[in-house]
Amino acid sequence: MSNQRTLSIIKPNAVKKNKIGLIIALLEEAKLKVVEVKMITLSVEKAESFYSEHKGKPFFNELIAFMTSGPLVIMALEGEDAINTNRKIMGATNPAEALEGTIRAKYGDGMTENAVHGSDGLESASRELKFFFG
Ligand code: ATP
Ligand code: MG
Repeated sequence: MSNQRTLSIIKPNAVKKNKIGLIIALLEEAKLKVVEVKMITLSVEKAESFYSEHKGKPFFNELIAFMTSGPLVIMALEGEDAINTNRKIMGATNPAEALEGTIRAKYGDGMTENAVHGSDGLESASRELKFFFG
């Protein structure tokens, strides 16, 4: 374990439901520190670039439509083992399978509208932080 930074996104369904504060509270309680934050609406081009690894998958178009449907909160989180800590508190991709108390169990609305994104490894964290914060 070591001190790390990871990228977190509060997705449009959670922003629309006024859950920004409750989600950040869960992250902070898990000892993750918000070190950068901004609210943006993604263009289709930028969303497709961010999710380029999923291009061609059956859910890709739905994912891009959802991620461009409203504002997002983009955060850099810092802490001990931040990448895995964040993934744990997020819960499984499918909110129906996410453990009780996790962000996706509480605020997810479906497989695509699953409330949050989090980098899944050192390489993606570095790439995604650069993508949004330079
Ligand atoms: P994220 O990358 O957002 O943190 P994840 O790593 O748990 O989530 P990925 O497999 O990277 O999941 O998929 C990226 C996003 O695409 C998911 O968060 C979800 O919004 C959407 N997605 C993934 N699989 C499906 C699916 N089978 N049907 C619909 N949407 C999906
Ligand atoms: Mg992923």
